[in-house]
Amino acid sequence: MVKTTNRTAIFFIRLITSTFVNGYTILTLYFKLMSIKDLYILGIESSCDDTSAAIIYNGKVLSNVVAGQKIHEAYGGVVPELASRAHQQNIVPVVHQALKGANINKNQLSAIAFTNGPGLMGSLLVGTSFAKSMALSLDIPLIAVNHMQAHILAHFIEEENQSVPPFPFICLTISGGHTQLVKVTNYFEFEILGETTDDAVGEAFDKTAKILGLPYPGGPLVDQYAKLGNPKAFSFTKPKVGDLEFSFSGLKTGILYFIQKNIKENPQFIEENLPDICASVQRTIVEILMEKIHNAVKQTGITHIAIAGGVSANSEIRKILKATEQLHGWNTYIPNFEYTTDNAAMIGIVGYLKYLQNSFSDQSISARARLGIEE
Ligand code: ADP
Ligand code: MG
Repeated sequence: MVKTTNRTAIFFIRLITSTFVNGYTILTLYFKLMSIKDLYILGIESSCDDTSAAIIYNGKVLSNVVAGQKIHEAYGGVVPELASRAHQQNIVPVVHQALKGANINKNQLSAIAFTNGPGLMGSLLVGTSFAKSMALSLDIPLIAVNHMQAHILAHFIEEENQSVPPFPFICLTISGGHTQLVKVTNYFEFEILGETTDDAVGEAFDKTAKILGLPYPGGPLVDQYAKLGNPKAFSFTKPKVGDLEFSFSGLKTGILYFIQKNIKENPQFIEENLPDICASVQRTIVEILMEKIHNAVKQTGITHIAIAGGVSANSEIRKILKATEQLHGWNTYIPNFEYTTDNAAMIGIVGYLKYLQNSFSDQSISARARLGIEE
């Protein structure tokens, strides 16, 4: 409660300052404060293979509906064309369900926020076109959201028992498509400290799972099997890259060769060692991630550390990071599970923050497959 009140106060102070700086009248401010009382933002996410819609009411989540796409399981990865078709099938029912779940009518919406990049072009186009049309028909503002910013800003969703990182903080964004260490100095001020030079960490999890015959996306399954195994059973060579850089392609190949070699000697190798293989791979990946966070703390002196993105659902990274609070005196921020993998609540919260700053998009906005975090 106290936290929420403080945050609201900060918004109002920022609002008042910006209002005077921009030379607005007291009357404008009055109307703004009145309209901010009831802000319903519809968030739409369609950057990869999850179609999601959420309703955010004054920073809190009223509904967050995610329709995953089972169709990719058989292919061991996302098939772009199938993803865009599935988005097209899912988007209307998903938005409808989000409105129903929030118990509101579409005419009560204040704005529509949508992911305009980065991601798969065919997937992004579905959400972008839908959001533009709906905003146009309802005559409400449209807000473009950067997917990578949204993963980080999901930490500002107002939740019970969830503390919000103070600025500046460091966020390790780990997902199926990205691996970035980001310094966050304000809601929309980001600096990449380091990122992957090749594959994303989620790909290392998913590729390992594929080699082991597990379905896509395999990250959660590797996590499950790892709980039953010995993390020191096998060792893998870690990449040699810069202090704040990541590389996972060599590790992926190393794991593949390791499995192939062992299967030659014992065709039952995977069946007999599945938990140990998963635990050892997971330990190696988590050690790499933690080493980079330590380097970032050393370089910046910042000890408020957040994680975000699909891989931040991993139980081991969550556990090890939490332990640093006792071990090193860091403050850590670990998102609730539902806000780790792709979801529209994180798009909605960015929509809310942008609405408060009057940061709207016009109808000429288009989807962007490539979009830097600072854009
Ligand atoms: P993107 O935004 O790149 O599409 P997401 O943020 O949705 O990706 O994250 C998906 C990735 O997260 C996948 O690679 C998946 O395997 C991985 N993932 C999800 N849960 C876990 C887990 N518990 N452990 C490891 N990886 C996980
Ligand atoms: Mg994502």
